[in-house]
Amino acid sequence: MHDSGRDQTHISDEVLAMNYEPVIGLETHAELLTNSKMFCGCAVMDSTAAPPNTLVCEICAGLPGTLPVLNERAVEYALRVALALNCTVPPVSVFARKNYFYPDLPKGYQISQYELPLAVNGWLEIETTAGLRRVRIRRVHLEEDTGKLFHVATSSLPLGEGAGVGAISTEHSLVDLNRAGVPLLEIVSEPDLRSAEEVKAYAIALRAILRYLGVNSGDMEKGILRFEPNISVRPAGSTELRTRTELKNLNSFRALERAVAYEIERQIGVWESGGEVVQETRGWDEAVGETVGQRGKEHAHDYRYFPEPDLPPLVITPEWIERVRAALPELPAAKRARFQAQYGLSAYDAALLTEERAVADFFEAAVANLKSHNPKSIANWMTGELFRLMNANGQSIEQVKVSPESLAALVELVASGTINANTAKAVFAEMFATGHAPDAIVAEQGLAQVSDQTAIERAVAEVLAGNPEQVATYLGGKATVEQWFFGQTMKSLKGQGDPQIIRRVLAKKLEELRLKTDD
Ligand code: ADP
Ligand code: ZN
Ligand code: MG
Repeated sequence: MHDSGRDQTHISDEVLAMNYEPVIGLETHAELLTNSKMFCGCAVMDSTAAPPNTLVCEICAGLPGTLPVLNERAVEYALRVALALNCTVPPVSVFARKNYFYPDLPKGYQISQYELPLAVNGWLEIETTAGLRRVRIRRVHLEEDTGKLFHVATSSLPLGEGAGVGAISTEHSLVDLNRAGVPLLEIVSEPDLRSAEEVKAYAIALRAILRYLGVNSGDMEKGILRFEPNISVRPAGSTELRTRTELKNLNSFRALERAVAYEIERQIGVWESGGEVVQETRGWDEAVGETVGQRGKEHAHDYRYFPEPDLPPLVITPEWIERVRAALPELPAAKRARFQAQYGLSAYDAALLTEERAVADFFEAAVANLKSHNPKSIANWMTGELFRLMNANGQSIEQVKVSPESLAALVELVASGTINANTAKAVFAEMFATGHAPDAIVAEQGLAQVSDQTAIERAVAEVLAGNPEQVATYLGGKATVEQWFFGQTMKSLKGQGDPQIIRRVLAKKLEELRLKTDD
């Protein structure tokens, strides 16, 4: 009873979902990894790299009487992103004060850009199951990050004995201003996305670009890169924009995708039950797997934006734009297409190998070291064994001990028949663990393949002579025993036999035996 009831709701959920179209736009915040902060000389450092409140001066602490000075490198990084996203960069943009009061914002306002952002009207192409889709980018603007609040139990506060606060309250909030004033780039898309899958594809593509450009680490867990989807649903076929909600606290792609999928279903449920979606900010509760209302429209801030009086308008000359454009690296999509065309890789392999610039560079360096032209084999080793061992050991490509040269050398050893594929796997594991060159490992451990015809013939003969029962079974008509003989022979050659020669010799000997019994 219970189960069939659940089945029915499930079917109707799907039918319902078909009657609605999700409409999603993303606001993305990316910290720009410059050496110093946006308006002062304080260092930009990861929260794990510096103790709290050690990277703060009177400017980023918001003391009265100080003046901000714009970080030119931050503007250059922002320009890289704007151009990579095919945006138009107007000659002048203007910084604005966004006023609100919160303990992580020492000045009582955030310097941002509002009416005249750094860049507008771009696009980003994403790959979806339905093919390539172009997502319009509405704007890219510069701002500064806020500090960070930590909510801790009073008992864990480093207060001297007898401080006596424990009796009054059990939780305290601490602020770390190291992040206050870190350059932040906001990238806002048009509401062009139509599913959780597309949102994820957009986020992955954008993250890859930011990393290629060297402006952001892409670390979502630490909040260095933050995706905030705005979501609404409308009747399929309609073009109206319905009330949206905005999701926060998404610190992984998985959370992003799950939260969007949940929110779409939730909103469909609200409309279907005759209710109305209210505009609000909702947080994602990873443990429960639900979005939870945080801040409604009635609490929406009136930011009272006005032009920042302490900073002149930001003038971007055409020469500056062209200089930045000329220095842009090859971007992931272009590299992906080139890898397919130039190296004959599948779309799938090309995508895997271009996700990170350093991985793509490793691939090309290895291919350049090949004497035989076989880029596909390098791709197979990388997407197979190398990625598997990197995952298992939590290593990035930069940390890997295998060099592109020695991967190429390994491929050559297999191509020349010096070692077989099985041995190559073991050699690669050794290369990964020690960083030693493959030829050295093969020589040291005596792993060279046995291709010696006489040695193989002897091994096959011994296996057949030593297993009369299996031979009888084989001759009785069970052909699959041949594979077992093969395995035994390979084993007696310590896995180093040339498989092709073993097969040939084995087939010949078995044929001889068969002829003998027929006599
Ligand atoms: P705000 O600045 O108040 O957050 P914006 O109008 O700038 O609002 O939009 C923020 C994001 O929300 C953009 O990415 C935009 O594409 C998206 N968005 C706007 N309206 C909708 C809607 N009705 N449904 C889904 N997304 C929307
Ligand atoms: Zn400072
Ligand atoms: Mg918003």
